[in-house]
Amino acid sequence: MGIVVQKYGGSSVATPERILRVARRVAWYRRQGHDLVVVVSAMGETTDQLLALAAEVSGDARPSPREMDMLLATGEQVSIALLAMALHRLGVPAISLTGPQAGFRTDSTHRNARILEVRPDRVRRELQDGKVVVVAGFQGMTAEGEITTLGRGGSDLTAIALAAALGADACQIFTDVDGVYTADPRIVPTARRLPEISYDELLELAAAGSQVMQLRSVEFAKQHGVEFQVLSSLAPLPEEGGNEEGTRVVAQVNKEFQRPVTGVAVNFRVARITLLGVPDRPGVAARLFRAFAEKKIVIDDIVQSGGPGSTHADISITVARDDLDTSLAICRDVMQEWPGTELVYDVDVAKVSIVGSGIASHYGIGAAMFEALAEKGINIEMITGSEIKISCLVRASRAAEAAQAVHDRFGLEAEHPQLVGTDGATATQSR
Ligand code: ADP
Ligand code: ASP
Ligand code: MG
Repeated sequence: MGIVVQKYGGSSVATPERILRVARRVAWYRRQGHDLVVVVSAMGETTDQLLALAAEVSGDARPSPREMDMLLATGEQVSIALLAMALHRLGVPAISLTGPQAGFRTDSTHRNARILEVRPDRVRRELQDGKVVVVAGFQGMTAEGEITTLGRGGSDLTAIALAAALGADACQIFTDVDGVYTADPRIVPTARRLPEISYDELLELAAAGSQVMQLRSVEFAKQHGVEFQVLSSLAPLPEEGGNEEGTRVVAQVNKEFQRPVTGVAVNFRVARITLLGVPDRPGVAARLFRAFAEKKIVIDDIVQSGGPGSTHADISITVARDDLDTSLAICRDVMQEWPGTELVYDVDVAKVSIVGSGIASHYGIGAAMFEALAEKGINIEMITGSEIKISCLVRASRAAEAAQAVHDRFGLEAEHPQLVGTDGATATQSR
C-alpha cells in the first residue's frame, strides 16, 4: 500500500468505453488500499488532429509556438475530465487537475519544455482528502504563467516526474502493448516481451526510434532512480484474472534476464542530409554543428568521411524528419562559406538498430547484423554505432524486412537467445 502513479496513453483512453475500462482498473487498485494518481494523454489521435487543424488555419505562416501549446494542451484536458466523471460513475471520489494545477513548472521552450520543478502540494492535499487525482499529461506552466507542452509522448514524462516528486511506491505506464518487446510487435510479429530491461537499454531503444516510451522520460527515470513497469491497459483487469506482469524497467537487470542483444528498433521518422565536398580543415565541423545547436536542433547520427590526405570530406547526418526543413536552411546558410560544397537529402530512408549491453564485449555482432541484411539483398546506406548500439540506414520500404531479418539472426524470439554467428565469447576488439 502506498502511492501508485499510473499513466494511460492515447490508445488506452481513445473511446468512452476505454475510459470506463481505465476507471475500472483504477477502482480495483484503489480497493487494494493504494493512493492513486492517474496521468492521462489526449484521446486517440487527438494531438495529431490538433496539429493538422493548426496547419490548416496557418497555411504558409508558421503557427506561433505559444498558441500551439495553448491548442495542444486542450487534448489532455478533455481526457482528465472524462476519466474523473467515469470514476464518479463507479462511486470513486476523484478530481482532475491540469499540469499547472498539479505543480508542473517548466522553462519557456514551447512544444518541448523542460521541467524545472514539480510541486505536487495540491496533489498531496487531494490524496489526503481520499480522492483519486487525475492529472493531465504532457503540460506545464512557465514562471510567467504561460502554458507549455513537454514534447511528443510527454505524458510518460509527466508520470515519471510525478512519481519522483511524490516519492511514489510504484509507477505503472499502461499502453496498448503488454510491455517492452524485443522489437515493435507491429513491425516484427515474432517479437517477445522482455520481463526486465535496464534504463540504459531502454534509453538506447527509445533514442533509436522505439516509441514505446518517450526518450526524455527514460532519462528522467534513470537520473532520479524511478523504477517503473510497462503494462497493457487492454489486457484483462486483475478482477478478470489478468496478471499485470508487463516489463520492469530497472537500473540493473537480473542476471537471468541479461541478453547480449536486447532488441531491434526501427525509426521511420528520420531524414538524411549529406554535405559533399566540405573543406577538410580544423573548425569546419565545429562551425556546422554550432549552427545546429543555435537552432536547438538535435542531430541523430553523424558520419564524416574523407580519405587520408584528401582536401575535402563528406559529412552525412540524420535528423528527425520534422526538423528537415530547418536543418536544410541551416546547411544552406553555412555552406555559403564553403564554395563548391553540395547538399543532398533523402527522406525515403529508415534506421534499423540493434541495442544491447553485450555489443561492446562480444565480437561478431556487427558482422552478424550486416550478413542478415546482405542475405536479404538490403543495401546499408550508412552505419553508426556506440558501446551498446549498431545502426544501419536502409531504404524505408525495406526497413520492416530488415528488422525481421536481424531479429531472426539474433534469435530474439527465443527465451534465451544464443548469439548466431559468434561463439558468444567476449573479446576486447568489439564488432
Ligand atoms: P501510448 O499512446 O500509450 O503512449 P505509444 O503509441 O506512444 O503508446 O507507444 C506504444 C507503441 O509503441 C506500441 O503500440 C508499439 O507499436 C510501439 N513500440 C515500438 N517499439 C516497441 C517495443 N520495443 N516494445 C513495445 N512496443 C513498441
Ligand atoms: N498527447 C501527446 C502526444 O500525442 C502526449 C502523449 O500522448 O504522451 O504526443
Ligand atoms: Mg506514448
